Amino acid sequence: MHAETQERSIQCPYCGKHYTAVLDPSGGDQVYIEDCEICCRPIEFHLHLDDDGEFAGLELRRDDD
Ligand SMILES: [Zn+2]
Repeated sequence: MHAETQERSIQCPYCGKHYTAVLDPSGGDQVYIEDCEICCRPIEFHLHLDDDGEFAGLELRRDDD
């Protein structure tokens, strides 16, 4: 099983809008910032993967928390 990018519907923690984000699991557990497609504010993506490299969870946080 190898990791491939996945499209996930996410909800922006700032404006509350839903849009589709592309997630790349190849780097393992990671935290990165990506601007919201709608309001352009920086969302912190906390990506969690299990031992097989499968998505185990995604947490979205505001940069100003
Ligand atoms: Zn937004």
